[in-house]
Amino acid sequence: MAKDNQEFEESLSENVPLAECTTFGIGGQARYFAEATSSEVLRGGVAWAKSQGLPLFVLGGGSNILVADDGFPGLVLRVRIRGLHSRIEGDKVTLTAGAGEDWDKVVAACISNNWAGFECLSGIPGSVGATPIQNVGAYGQEISETFVSLEALDLERAYLVTMTPDECEFGYRTSRFKTRERDRFIITSVTYRLTADGRPTIRYLDLQLYFKGGGIKSPALSDVREAVLAIRRSKAMVIDIGDPDSRSVGSFFVNPVVTREAFEEIKKRARSFIGSDKDIPSYSASSGRVKLSAAWLIERAGFERGYTYGNVGISQKHALAIINRGGGTAREVVELAGRIKLRVRSVFGVTLVPEPVFVGFDR
Ligand code: NAP
Repeated sequence: MAKDNQEFEESLSENVPLAECTTFGIGGQARYFAEATSSEVLRGGVAWAKSQGLPLFVLGGGSNILVADDGFPGLVLRVRIRGLHSRIEGDKVTLTAGAGEDWDKVVAACISNNWAGFECLSGIPGSVGATPIQNVGAYGQEISETFVSLEALDLERAYLVTMTPDECEFGYRTSRFKTRERDRFIITSVTYRLTADGRPTIRYLDLQLYFKGGGIKSPALSDVREAVLAIRRSKAMVIDIGDPDSRSVGSFFVNPVVTREAFEEIKKRARSFIGSDKDIPSYSASSGRVKLSAAWLIERAGFERGYTYGNVGISQKHALAIINRGGGTAREVVELAGRIKLRVRSVFGVTLVPEPVFVGFDR
């Protein structure tokens, strides 16, 4: 433990600007900041914060957080645990990745080996450790489908635990780590199962249309990755310093999933407000429920793409992304998000739930 503490204390800094650790580029400073390259250093950091009576925030890739303008008054521990290990048995590939690995680099490596399972999850910013937290998913694939287990530091018991899919309680873009036990575990590595030379998943219309347009009849895994990247880029959902519309946390709200009765009610309201219910995009979700497009609701409620609010606004390419237009503040983001939420609720009766984690807003 003494060595863990020593390594941790060597990497400790004070008053570190957090904006540059995030894709939003917004927020104040961390009172203390350190990088954990191993679970031992992580443990040292956790013990140190506890001994100082400081709050702790665990940072991954910074692609899904909004940091308060006043920053964070405690210790921010950035997880930098690296490592990729694979084992192949027949057509099954068991891959274990350190929580601090860049997610899209892992996806690219799998595609170059022709391993199926992650191709639709291309271009998602962030780190491996974040993927089980919100059961990351896109274009018809989600992490729970390839997830085998994870290793995490249990802050209640101060030791490493291994967790199975059932124990993670995955749901639509959620898990136990996002709901009932938000601050209990720090994920250190994740193990997935992929299929060597497997067939790509091409379920979503966006992908089917892409290949139809390009005349590709049997897309390879690498074609699907390229297609997903192109679709995401067209919505500014791939981080690109040359594209101001990508200075965001990606989708700011989760696509709502509602009961069938609630959907009927929404259609009724839409009819009286926008004069038609014909084009409400909807998809069936689990347990007979209905999944809606948050972007569609936001635009129809009056928040067009390109809408501005001080130094923040809505992306010109996707109504679901709130962007920092330069010099934006967390206060502006929260105000704009609040206005959107109120308006969507009053027009459609749907309560949008924000997707990012809010850091330092307790004060
Ligand atoms: P989109 O493609 O405009 O889709 C809007 C909604 O329609 C989503 O809820 C999507 O479901 C659903 N949908 C579309 N085609 C469908 C189909 N063929 N079958 C079933 N459901 C369908 O959404 P977007 O906002 O631009 O996002 C694109 C993709 O990225 C989506 O898959 C979205 O979930 C994903 N995404 C994930 C995260 C995350 O993991 N945190 C963040 C942002 C976006 P699904 O949501 O189930 O796909």
